[in-house]
Amino acid sequence: MNAPLLHWIDGEAVAPTAGEFRSGTNPATGGVGAQVAQGTAADVDLAVRAAHTAASGWRRIASLERGRILAAIGRRLLVDLDALAELESLDTGKPLALAAAEIRGAAEYFEFYAALVNLPAGDVLDIRPDLHVYTLREPFGVVGVITPWNLPLNQAARACAPALAAGNTIVAKPAESTSQTTVALARIASEEGLPPGVLNVVLGRGAEVGTAIVQHPLVRKVAFTGSVRVGQDIGRIAADRILPLTLELGGKSANIVFADADLDFAAAEAVRAFMTNAGQVCSSGTRLLVERSVQERFTAAVVEATRRLAPGRDVGPMITQGQYDTVRRYFAIAAEEGARVELGGGVVTDPELDGGFYVQPTIYSDVDNEMRIAREEIFGPVLVIIPFDTEQEAVALANDSDFGLVGGVFTEDVSRAFRVAESLEAGQVYVNSWSTQSVQMPFGGHKQSGYGREKGIEALYHYTHVKSISVRLAPRR
Ligand code: NAD
Repeated sequence: MNAPLLHWIDGEAVAPTAGEFRSGTNPATGGVGAQVAQGTAADVDLAVRAAHTAASGWRRIASLERGRILAAIGRRLLVDLDALAELESLDTGKPLALAAAEIRGAAEYFEFYAALVNLPAGDVLDIRPDLHVYTLREPFGVVGVITPWNLPLNQAARACAPALAAGNTIVAKPAESTSQTTVALARIASEEGLPPGVLNVVLGRGAEVGTAIVQHPLVRKVAFTGSVRVGQDIGRIAADRILPLTLELGGKSANIVFADADLDFAAAEAVRAFMTNAGQVCSSGTRLLVERSVQERFTAAVVEATRRLAPGRDVGPMITQGQYDTVRRYFAIAAEEGARVELGGGVVTDPELDGGFYVQPTIYSDVDNEMRIAREEIFGPVLVIIPFDTEQEAVALANDSDFGLVGGVFTEDVSRAFRVAESLEAGQVYVNSWSTQSVQMPFGGHKQSGYGREKGIEALYHYTHVKSISVRLAPRR
């Protein structure tokens, strides 16, 4: 049994004040996972105070030096890639290759923002000859970063790298079940020269540790990635505190395939859209809208390609017991709603995967956009297929959702591609290829998918606020 996982506060591993630990579950086997410290508001207070003390030094450090440290963290994530991917795979059950790809992505955040430490810059405003007016983009100070369990290190890096580049200090809280790599990130950052207190991690339950972070008076901004329900809870506290938030919430994203598309390629992409990470991706393409004239043929191609993906080899388990139960509940809901099962619809019964939280890759057709399986985020490898007849209907169906995270359009008609892409209520739209995401592209939601933006130069605006300074120039004597 490995040593229990401790908080990382002020540059060192710290035991929980209350002395409490909880064992996780290995989702691939159902066996006992890592033993993780359970923090309290007292631990959060310790971490926030460390971050607050470190804030003035970190924001004043020469920006090139800040960039050098971030670049070193990025390089080190790559050097330690295998070990980190193994840790991530232990916590999440995901295939090693996928975990490794996510760690590479985490390194890219540090590489990218390391080079942008002087952005976003302020402006000089030409107002009057006797005034010198300029704006500064200043860090908030202590930023709370609360992340979910689906891409643990990658999502911690997505928020931490720009927040640090902008000169903030951080108290991060990973999800209870997938804490190991976020602590590893903080340790690596310390070893690569990040001053103590600049990046702290407090472990434990969301309702206790997460709430304490959002409520702490010295926390000046929170970046939350997770469910709509918790986003709303955080929003209520933030309303009382007038606390700025970035909310990256759920999705039920539509992927629209027109009859004139390259259908073989579109089918492969449609599978990737809903099967990556066993569907536990906020930007999954889980509503497949298909032009009726090719619906039968296209559905068959998607079913055939999905059937080739083997749970345990190509597809990981549900990452938590709770998520396993949720997906099984939606199988029952789909049956009640009368959707036609094209593939799957149950749990995996392979004895070799016994005990793991594996569900079958599942495809439903004959789905009406009013059904719960078309409206609610399932967060598993579950696709619903909805036919349409016209471009107008496709756009209306895609936009008829409480969510607005991403959208996809497959067509060979260039004018239609632009028309549809610009009509979709979504933070990002992919044309003729699903999820061409990169660290350079701003990412975030419309509607209940959240607000604020991560990634790109855009994220730096969300980790800084602007100050205008006007200086009256005395007339020449
Ligand atoms: P969750 O909302 O249950 O938990 C997310 C984090 O919030 C965890 O660290 C959790 O401990 C913490 N938390 C829980 N209750 C809290 C509270 N009351 N106050 C403060 N913090 C609290 O989400 P989850 O089940 O871990 O993750 C799945 C959800 O995340 C899905 O809805 C998915 O779409 C969303 N997600 C969104 C994005 C995005 O970028 N938009 C990315 C990944 C996941």
